[in-house]
Amino acid sequence: MSRIGFIGLGAMGGAMAGNLLDAGFELHVWNRTSAKVDELAARGATRAPDPATAVEPGGIVITMLADDRALEEVTLGERGFLERLGPGGAHVSMSTISPHLARRLARRHAERGSRYVGAPVFGRPEMAAARKLWIAVAGESAAKERVRPILNVLGQGVYDFGEDPSAAHVVKLGGNFLIAAAIESLGESAALLRKSGVDPAAFMRMLTETLFACPLYQSYGRLIVEERYAPAGFRLALGLKDAELVLQAASASAAPMPFGDAIRRRFLTAVARGRGDLDWAAIALGASEDAGLVTRAVSGATPPREE
Ligand code: NAP
Repeated sequence: MSRIGFIGLGAMGGAMAGNLLDAGFELHVWNRTSAKVDELAARGATRAPDPATAVEPGGIVITMLADDRALEEVTLGERGFLERLGPGGAHVSMSTISPHLARRLARRHAERGSRYVGAPVFGRPEMAAARKLWIAVAGESAAKERVRPILNVLGQGVYDFGEDPSAAHVVKLGGNFLIAAAIESLGESAALLRKSGVDPAAFMRMLTETLFACPLYQSYGRLIVEERYAPAGFRLALGLKDAELVLQAASASAAPMPFGDAIRRRFLTAVARGRGDLDWAAIALGASEDAGLVTRAVSGATPPREE
């Protein structure tokens, strides 16, 4: 089976790369913090000294990095892979990034004869490990066909949004806005219940077994009721990044998102209170604090205010 470059072995990328190895793909991997490569190297992946060396001319490279800056650096930077990937190459870009950067990278790839495929994912690290991601894909048809077997290994479903690669990234931002709005509303309703002396766990059980019986409300409802925010599945600091990307995309397309504004403020406040490394569900602590409730101490967070 052909060799693939894989760049970015964080909570998501590490699990995804491991699945590709298990499926028989030969991997050449690079991560900024080299120690994170050790486990995959022990399982047969080849360690690349820099992003450019991780790719083969005309080959396929996958990126799963924190944000726009990181992706720009590994693609276009001094040690970036764009030039080496060259004609016939395909870049499968799976991070949550701005549609604007996706369009810019797609143009740069086209100039070199390579293709940019947007393929951001829904699902937390445990879903990545279980190959249960949901993937939104967009890009040139032939390039999408070529990378499809890889996406099929990584996820349980792939949804196609056409030829403009930025479309997949808009889908991801719209989806993350929905998730963050659900977290905020779960946090506010849990605070209401607690403040009224009603067991929020019983409330959550009723609603998530009936009208809101979907995985998202069930899993975040549990985290919020139990105030279980560490270790993070998705770091709150990255949640702030996404809330900002949503608003940038909203401005660019003149689509006002008043809930989006409120959610961004929640994330910013949480980061300011030292919660950037907690799970992003920890924005729910904001609603609790607004209600004057004492929250249980959460490891890694600023100690809560005592009444
Ligand atoms: P993470 O654990 O924080 O990993 C981030 C990765 O980006 C690491 O490999 C990190 O390298 C690398 N990185 C950061 N800044 C860099 C830079 N300037 N140059 C080179 N590499 C850099 O994040 P994650 O949870 O895996 O998320 C990765 C992407 O998937 C993000 O765009 C996120 O929004 C998206 N996503 C996450 C989830 C989730 O539930 N976690 C779900 C769907 C989508 P180091 O190891 O050196 O820090």
